[in-house]
Amino acid sequence: MTDKLIEGVKGYTGAAGGWGALRAVALAVRNQMADARALLAVNQPDGFDCPGCAWPDPRHGSSFEFCENGAKAVTWEATAKRVDPNFFARHSATELWEWSDHDLEGAGRLTHPLRYNPSTDHYEVISYEEAFRLTGAALNALDDPNQAEFYCSGRTSNEAAFLWQLYVRAFGTNNFPDCSNMCHEATSMGLPQSIGIGKGTVTLEDFEHADAIFCIGHNPGTNHPRMLSSLRDAARRGAAIIVANPMKERGLERFRSPQHPGDMISRTGVQLASAYHQVRVGGDLAMLKGIMKALLAREAAEGGVLDHTFIAEHTNGFEALAADLAATSWDEIVRRSGLPRAEIERMAYVYARAERVIICYGMGITQHRRGTQNVQQIANLLLLRGNFGRPGAGICPLRGHSNVQGDRTVGITELPTEAFLQRLDAAFGITSPRAHGHNAVEAFKAMRDGRSRAVISLGGNLAVAMPDPQACFAAYRKMDLAVTVVTKLNRTCLLQAKETLVLPCLGRTEQDVQAGGPQAVTVEDSMSMVHASRGKLKPVAEGLLSEPAIVAGLAKATLPGLAIDWDGMVANYDRIRDKIAEVLPEFADYNARIRIPLGFRLPNGPSERRWNTADGKAHFIVHPGADGAGGNADGALTLTTIRSHDQYNTTIYGNNDRYRGITGRRDVVFVNADDLADAGLAHGDLVDVIGASGRVLARQIAVSHQIARGSLAAYYPEANDLIALDDYDPVSGTPAYKSVTVTLKKAQIVSEA
Ligand code: SF4
Repeated sequence: MTDKLIEGVKGYTGAAGGWGALRAVALAVRNQMADARALLAVNQPDGFDCPGCAWPDPRHGSSFEFCENGAKAVTWEATAKRVDPNFFARHSATELWEWSDHDLEGAGRLTHPLRYNPSTDHYEVISYEEAFRLTGAALNALDDPNQAEFYCSGRTSNEAAFLWQLYVRAFGTNNFPDCSNMCHEATSMGLPQSIGIGKGTVTLEDFEHADAIFCIGHNPGTNHPRMLSSLRDAARRGAAIIVANPMKERGLERFRSPQHPGDMISRTGVQLASAYHQVRVGGDLAMLKGIMKALLAREAAEGGVLDHTFIAEHTNGFEALAADLAATSWDEIVRRSGLPRAEIERMAYVYARAERVIICYGMGITQHRRGTQNVQQIANLLLLRGNFGRPGAGICPLRGHSNVQGDRTVGITELPTEAFLQRLDAAFGITSPRAHGHNAVEAFKAMRDGRSRAVISLGGNLAVAMPDPQACFAAYRKMDLAVTVVTKLNRTCLLQAKETLVLPCLGRTEQDVQAGGPQAVTVEDSMSMVHASRGKLKPVAEGLLSEPAIVAGLAKATLPGLAIDWDGMVANYDRIRDKIAEVLPEFADYNARIRIPLGFRLPNGPSERRWNTADGKAHFIVHPGADGAGGNADGALTLTTIRSHDQYNTTIYGNNDRYRGITGRRDVVFVNADDLADAGLAHGDLVDVIGASGRVLARQIAVSHQIARGSLAAYYPEANDLIALDDYDPVSGTPAYKSVTVTLKKAQIVSEA
């Protein structure tokens, strides 16, 4: 090992937030923006919604309603850099393919629609109208509408997403791969069976009343940073914050709030976690069963633990759950979770003593082969003590993209209900297809196998986000048509089909002026709050279309005979919202209600102890066994993919991961020191991470880290190479990004001589 090999691996001793966060905001502004005043409009009642995560807005007490990573998201979009026709004249497609993902997006905002010209190997300017015409012609040349895939990113507004699903269903398919398929589909599929809704049940105010907050499988310091303020306030008033996570994450340990001068001058910041349990990757199912088993044992010994009245009045299935817990041995629970029995019993003790409990979870729970089962065990745990429908209690899935939940609400799903389709058909005089469509994995399988021949992405970087990128890239290149609607160039735009089009659109930070005047769009956060977002900045180029206008343009070119007033809806987005309210009764008075600051909350049955299930009850759902990773052999190393602090999904803002002590590189794999020693390796060694079927993530720096034994972590999307397209939760279709069985091997050092 040489020092050169561990350059950039330094460790980190500070709290999350604090001066480091302020420095990072200043750097993001300096590197990207000409005018930083736009940041003052982020998450303000009259401003625009942060294009980052789906954490809700507080009651707007400050001019600074954004976090470090929100500032990165805004400055990344509001950059002064431009990718204009000259850029594409200078750089061929082949050359651009060699650029890193960071450099592609970092080049700036796209200013013109583009078409790939294979004879020059350059992307060349085309008009929107011509791009729409080419798209419509290619789609209409398909043998069957089901040969096309229509992706929707979770950043898409309710208005654009609603028009998108209308266009696609009028065209004749339910093929809606979306980013929810890759993150919280286990929530969307699992929770309706348990509690009758596929969403979280808490509000921001509930965090002010909880006696205990369990944080399982998520990293708020990076992925939803303003949650740290809620955790900080809860910790300071004495609520227990119980963390279960394989890696020690600074954002779950200590926080300095830049909004509180006292925090900024304190040496350590505010301690968040009152207990930190390093569960094995994939060990959550066992841990959750262990907590419930311990609760039942306490109930049998002392009584007063379970909420029998709630269980009797509101639930079904308790006896089956109790029988399953009795049949699951402590040996298996301890072995699978990696946690000692006493530690799990302490978690149960805290849970039982707390009158009001919130359980938060992220993709550490959902992105497993048994992700749906994990989610349902969390619901079981909450049901045991009636932790629904009371202030300070409930379930809190932490969503990624800012409108991923809203897009699903307004119809982006491959599995629409008959009731929804009937109302959609009645509102627009169409006949929607009834056959279920493709989710993200199914879409790529269809593309790979030749059953699909066209793919259109409304936002995102679809091919890079998926497992097995090489297979997905190859599938893309087999298409007759590939269209991406984006604000910035990314690798998916560079995957050439027979016809390849790139359509730039307005970003959320920009003014959206249509024939009817300036327009607002709306989004739904992860707590079911719907509110308006009004861009403030001048668009980066003249003539740039909004997403609703692009969808309408595609629809008119594809379906010219259809009597839908696309132009009228685009002229005034109130008309789109009126149609949404016509199709979805929960949006009644939509336009009036989004003109109220903070907007409105969509109905949430479990918050009122109403269960929208077949029998009107919440359900304890039983899953035998305790193997949460779904088939990993005992003793195998299980790798989880993670995001760095300089990253948002596939967007790489930079190569630092401050809270994990990594600077200027992403080729690292985090390993427990004892696992390193067992493998005959040392901190700083160059290793190959070897997955199933000969998949290899080559030449990574092994970094000794505080991570549970048997667990590894490496960055997404690079580590997606280790995951097969067929490796997913069979219930929800969520790729198993966090259940990757691997071994480590010392890499060959290539001599420089
Ligand atoms: S917590 Fe999420 S939504 Fe809020 S400012 Fe940060 S990135 Fe944006």
